[in-house]
Amino acid sequence: MKYDLHFSIAGLIVFLLLYIVLCVIYNNGQNTVRRLRELLICLFLADLLDIVTAYTIAYRADVPLWVNYALNSLFFFLEAVSSGAFARYVRFVYEPKKGRRFVTDYINLVIVFAFGILCATSFLTHAIFYFDDKGYHRGPIFDLTFGIGLYFLVFALVRMLQRHRSFSRRQKASIVAFVLIAIAGCVVQFVIPYKIFVMYFAFSIAAVITVFGLETPDSFKLQIALNDLEKSQTELQKAVERAESADRAKSDFLAHMSHEIRTPINAVLGMNELINRESTQPEIRAYSADIADAGQSLLSLINDILDFSKIEAGRMELAPSEYEVKNLLREVSNIIRVRCEDKGLTFDIQNNPTIPARLYGDDVRIRQILINLLNNALKYTDKGGVTLLVESKEISENQIELVFSVKDTGIGIKEEDLKLLFESFRRIDLEHNRKREGTGLGLNITKSLVEMMGGSIQVSSVYGEGSVFTVSIKQEVRGGEVLGVFKKEGTTTGKKKYESLFTAPEARILVVDDVKMNLSVVKGLLKQTRMQVETALSGEECLRMIQETAYDIIFLDHMMPEMDGLETMQRIKADTGHCNQSTPVIMLTANAILGAKEEYLGIGFEDYLSKPIQWKEMEELLMKYLPKEKQIS
Ligand code: ADP
Repeated sequence: MKYDLHFSIAGLIVFLLLYIVLCVIYNNGQNTVRRLRELLICLFLADLLDIVTAYTIAYRADVPLWVNYALNSLFFFLEAVSSGAFARYVRFVYEPKKGRRFVTDYINLVIVFAFGILCATSFLTHAIFYFDDKGYHRGPIFDLTFGIGLYFLVFALVRMLQRHRSFSRRQKASIVAFVLIAIAGCVVQFVIPYKIFVMYFAFSIAAVITVFGLETPDSFKLQIALNDLEKSQTELQKAVERAESADRAKSDFLAHMSHEIRTPINAVLGMNELINRESTQPEIRAYSADIADAGQSLLSLINDILDFSKIEAGRMELAPSEYEVKNLLREVSNIIRVRCEDKGLTFDIQNNPTIPARLYGDDVRIRQILINLLNNALKYTDKGGVTLLVESKEISENQIELVFSVKDTGIGIKEEDLKLLFESFRRIDLEHNRKREGTGLGLNITKSLVEMMGGSIQVSSVYGEGSVFTVSIKQEVRGGEVLGVFKKEGTTTGKKKYESLFTAPEARILVVDDVKMNLSVVKGLLKQTRMQVETALSGEECLRMIQETAYDIIFLDHMMPEMDGLETMQRIKADTGHCNQSTPVIMLTANAILGAKEEYLGIGFEDYLSKPIQWKEMEELLMKYLPKEKQIS
C-alpha cells in the first residue's frame, strides 16, 4: 500500500488512552469533561475511518464501490462533527452551564446536519470521490470538509477572543495550541499528499495538550484554587476595609480618650504648679512636688499607650530632619540629670569627640529612645549611677552608625529574662520590681522605633551588678564639623524657684476653651508675665471678641461644643472685617495623638501646644510669636 498509516494508528491509540483517562481517572462529572470525551470519540472514529478508507481505496478492486462511498461519506461527516465538537467544547469552557443555549449553537448544529445530508445525498456521486484510470480523486465534498473544519476552529478562536475575560491564560494557551497544531497537521498532510497520514496524529497531540492542560484534576484544582483565590481576595478586601474602619475607630477612640484624660490632668498639673509657685510652706510645696511627679507618670503612661497602639496599627511614621547632636544630648541630659540627682545617682555623658556635629534623622524619636532607656536605667538603679556613652562609626563619606550605650549599676537582668525584655506589657523580675512603676511597654516601643530607623538594640547584663543597653542607628552626616567633647551643664542645687522667662504688660492674648478650669490654669500660669490674658468659653464668643479687640495671639481649644476650634479658626481667617487678620492662631489642645501637630499646622494653625501645659513650653512659644517690642526680659 502506498500510504503510511503509522501516525494515524498512533493517534488512534492516543485518542483511546485519553478517553480512558477521562472516563476512569479524571471523571469529575463536569460538562467540559463530557464534551471532551465526545470530541475524543468523534476524533477516534474519524481517525479509524481514515485508516479504513485508506485500505478500502487501496484495495478497491476487492471492495464493493458502495462500501467505499459509504465509508468515505461517513468519514467526511465525522470530520465535520469532530471540528464541531471542538467548538462546542470551547463554548462549554467559558459557559459551563448546560441550560443556556446560544443562537450560534443552533447555527453550528444546522451546519453539521446540512453537511450530513449533503454527504448522504451525494452518495455514489463524484461529489464525494471517483476513480478513473489515474486512480482515486477526491470530490468537492472532501474539500468542503476541511472548509467546515477550519470554520469551527476559527469559530472557537473568535469566541475565545470575544470572551477573553472568561478564559484563564492557561485555557487560552491550550485552545490556541489545539487550533494551531490541528491546522499545522492538515497543512503538513496536504504538503505530503497521501503518503504519510499525520493529520490525526497532530489532532491527538492537540487533544493531549487540552486534556492535561485543562481537564486533569491538577489543572482543575488549579482552576478551582484560582476561583477560590479570587473569592478570598474579595473577602480579604472586605476584611481589610472592616479592619481599617475598626482601626480608624480605635484611633478615634484613643484620640478621644487621650483628650478626655489629658483635660483633667491639665487642670490638676496646672493648678498644682500654681500652688507650688505661690505657696511658701515647704510641706505644701513637697506635697505639690509629689502631685507633679504622679501627674507626669500618668502622662507618660498615656503617651506610651498611644505610641504603642500607633506602632501596632502600623501608623507610626518617622519625621527625619537635620539636627545638632549637641542639642539632642543637652535636652536628654537636662531631663535625666535632674532625675538622677533627685535619686542620689550620678549621671555621666561620655562621647567620642569625632562624632559629626550635624546629622539627618528623626531626632525627636532618638530622644524618646534615649529617654526611655535612661529612665529605665535610673528606675532600676538604687545606688551608683547611669552613664550614656555616645560613639560613631563611619560607614561612608556621608553616613555614620550612631551608637548609644546606656549603662547602669542597677539590679541587672537574669540571663533567662533577657529574651523576654522586649515583649509588650512584659515586666520581669517582679519580686524586685513590684514597687517600681511601669507598664512593660517602654522597651517594646523603643525596639520598634529603633527598628523603624533600620537600627538594632542589644542588651547585656549581670544580675545584681548592672546592665548595658546599646542602640545603633544609621544617620546621614550634614556638614564637616565635629561635636568635640560634650559637656553637660553643672548640677542644680535644689529646685529653682519659678521665674517667668519674660514679661509683656502691653501684650494682649485671647484664650478660648469651653472648660473654665483650663482658662483659670492658663491665666494663673501666665500671671507673672503680666500679659493681658482674655478668655472666651466658646467659638462664638471668640468671634465676637475679635471684632472689638486686636490680640497679639489667639489660643484655640480643639474640641468645643457647637463651634469647634477648627471651624473657629477658619471663620477668623475668612472674616475680613476685623483687626485680627494677621494674628497668629495657635492650637492649644489635649489631642496629643501622634501626627496631630502636623495636621493642625496643615489646616492653617500657626503653631500647636499640647495640654497639660508645660509652662516653659508655653512661655517659649509666646516669646516666639509676641511682637518683640512688647517683650521685656
Ligand atoms: P517598664 O519599665 O515599664 O516595666 P520596659 O519595657 O521599659 O517596661 O521594661 C521591661 C522590663 O525590663 C522591666 O519591667 C524591667 O524588669 C526590665 N528592665 C528594663 N530596663 C532595665 C534595666 N536598666 N535594669 C534592669 N531591668 C530592666
